[in-house]
Amino acid sequence: MKLVDKTNLMSLTREGLTDFFLALGEKPYRAVQVMKWIYHRGVYDIALMTDLSQDLRSRLQECACIELSEIVSEHLSVDGTRKWIIRVAGGNCIETVLIPERSRNTLCISSQVGCILNCSFCSTGKQGFDGNLTAAEIIGQVWLASQRMRELGLAQGVTNVVFMGMGEPLMNFDAVMTAASVFMDDLGFGLSKRKVTVSTAGVVPGILKMVGTTDCSIAISLHAPSDDVRNGLVPLNKKYPISELLAACRSYLETLGERRHVTVEYTLIKGVNDHIDQAKELAKLLRDVSCKINLIPFNSFPASGYEVPDAGTIDAFQSYLIKSGYATMLRTTRGDDIAAACGQLAGQVKDRTRRQEKYLARVKALEIA
Ligand code: SAH
Repeated sequence: MKLVDKTNLMSLTREGLTDFFLALGEKPYRAVQVMKWIYHRGVYDIALMTDLSQDLRSRLQECACIELSEIVSEHLSVDGTRKWIIRVAGGNCIETVLIPERSRNTLCISSQVGCILNCSFCSTGKQGFDGNLTAAEIIGQVWLASQRMRELGLAQGVTNVVFMGMGEPLMNFDAVMTAASVFMDDLGFGLSKRKVTVSTAGVVPGILKMVGTTDCSIAISLHAPSDDVRNGLVPLNKKYPISELLAACRSYLETLGERRHVTVEYTLIKGVNDHIDQAKELAKLLRDVSCKINLIPFNSFPASGYEVPDAGTIDAFQSYLIKSGYATMLRTTRGDDIAAACGQLAGQVKDRTRRQEKYLARVKALEIA
């Protein structure tokens, strides 16, 4: 049995690491040195950090470590999307997805093992839930992806990070904020605040807590212009209805004090939220919200019970929003062949709820039928 847990140096922000060294009786610049080793040079073995004295390295090895999760497998889609299955504590597996585009490499990372929110159209919800990832496990996803991308000889590393993998980031607030801080720190991954995006299903207190804590970008999973439809898709809406969600976004954007916007995610599902009248309602609803809209055609998974709208319907929906003055992107489905598209991520979760069991029974029943 371990008597004292070692501090994982990858779980700390620059401030946290500085405090850690001060507590050891060391100078603050040790934090700078160690971060450069970990994030700029990709070195996680304390013994190799040669600008620290031998004595300090030995002391560090006693009380600190840099523990990384392990990539279990890699899956490459025909469209270049790459998915990694990563083993984290407790024997669970999570998924991290790299979406290469012409000028950027977006990494879609997970924040929890499974998800508690159970949105009706998302397969992660069907896997149930087994807790939060640690800050080190979140940061580790970007570290591991960056290292693998170097091995693959890719011209550029991760340029954008989106918390759009498994889990609800704002239900794991502290670890996610620590990770976002490292992503945006010049001594960490050095990404700009516009290139780190927390996506939330609408945890209003979490959005309000972001005020003053971070200045990263935010996306909300809206998916419907009215509470009655949204209640059926995102159960959390019953607790935090659309009006409160949009008010919280406005508060957050206001404090950023610059021309910033919220990304509104809207998964289009046939016969549920794809009617042209709903596009009209949406345009009205968002009138005083500084936003861009991302339409996502529904990605299917077994026994989802939902279908993707036909191309004409999607096109009409998008055109209406564009005509109404909204920057509206249609997010093309990427990585569908390796189940890496939005809402298809489903690691191996030791479910603490009974949702996974129920879901698997439903899939089986459909297969027999
Ligand atoms: N919990 C966060 C992070 C998940 S992000 C959130 O809800 O924002 C993943 C995005 O993909 C969300 O907008 C989610 O609603 C959407 N999504 C989930 N399942 C989907 C599916 N089957 N097809 C398309 N989009 C889906």
